[in-house]
Amino acid sequence: MAEKKIIDNFGRPHTYLRISLTDRCNLRCFYCMPEEGIELTEKENVMTLEEIISLTRTFRDLGVDTVRLTGGEPLVRKNFGYLVEELAKLGVTLKLTTNGIVLDKYLELFDKIGLRKINLSLDTLDKAKSVFITKRDYYDRIMQNLEKALELNMQIKLNVVLIKGVNDNEINDFIALTRNKNLAVKFIEFMPFKGNKWDWSKGVSQDEILKTIESKFGEIQTLKNPAHSTSQNFKVKDHEGSFGIVSTITKPFCDDCNRIRVTADGKMKNCLFANSETDLLTPMRAGQALDNIIVNAIKTKKYSRDGMDVKMDADHYEQNRSMISIGG
Ligand code: SAM
Ligand code: SF4
Repeated sequence: MAEKKIIDNFGRPHTYLRISLTDRCNLRCFYCMPEEGIELTEKENVMTLEEIISLTRTFRDLGVDTVRLTGGEPLVRKNFGYLVEELAKLGVTLKLTTNGIVLDKYLELFDKIGLRKINLSLDTLDKAKSVFITKRDYYDRIMQNLEKALELNMQIKLNVVLIKGVNDNEINDFIALTRNKNLAVKFIEFMPFKGNKWDWSKGVSQDEILKTIESKFGEIQTLKNPAHSTSQNFKVKDHEGSFGIVSTITKPFCDDCNRIRVTADGKMKNCLFANSETDLLTPMRAGQALDNIIVNAIKTKKYSRDGMDVKMDADHYEQNRSMISIGG
């Protein structure tokens, strides 16, 4: 019998799983968390740590080799240290996306278990602006933790969501950080989710970003993108670090998508923009095997942006969850 793999109807093998550990967060970034807040998942409907470990094992046995932990803020999940140590034993490459507020608490553990690829969200290098964007005052802590992570040679990508009139004037300040630091900056085009008041006139496109950088730094070198990369990657000549652009809106990169998501309440999403979800938690709690459910669920995946091939459609994305409860 052929080995079961997670392959969609377009022949794309899915080997990269993003798990949201919680829909709670210690920040309130305005582009992620709706102003009115979200209805938090009741505790009994959130996957337990043992359920997350078991689910990850199932996905691994179906060919998943990379797992990114995200949220909400993954590091606020109780007993996160235990969870990450157990997941490391499963032999998958572990990655993390975090806002960095409590990163220092876990750096030693990450060093020990070999979790080195960390995306740290940092939209501004200006403290007052950070308070405006996140509605909380943690900028100094985040910057200190960034330095600590770099000292331990963690592979850091700074996630920067660009919004016109907010932080688009800092593009070149972020690029300047890559001059003598071995880090990557990942500029992300502003994306629409339920309740985030998306309007592309506030977004900054890949072309605009490249033009801004070129006007200050001159020659930009195009780097070879790793397989399944969600960003186009570049580097300013002679800079130690690099930068990438996630151009979901202006240049979608769905052709060789290999990503699946599971929300904190155990729903599988085939795409960040998917409105339909497959419940994995209920059958898991009923003792059912999940492999056929997962393998069948991926067959409903659309080719690109859950069918929003040409444009982002409010009737569609307002039916999705808010980003904070999907897990970016
Ligand atoms: N709390 C963690 C953090 O902020 O890194 C992990 C979860 S957060 C939802 C994951 C990533 O999604 C962050 O880098 C965040 O900036 C990004 N994000 C959130 N809302 C977004 C939006 N509307 N458009 C583009 N990126 C977004
Ligand atoms: Fe929290 Fe991350 Fe969303 Fe900001 S982007 S509100 S840190 S989940």
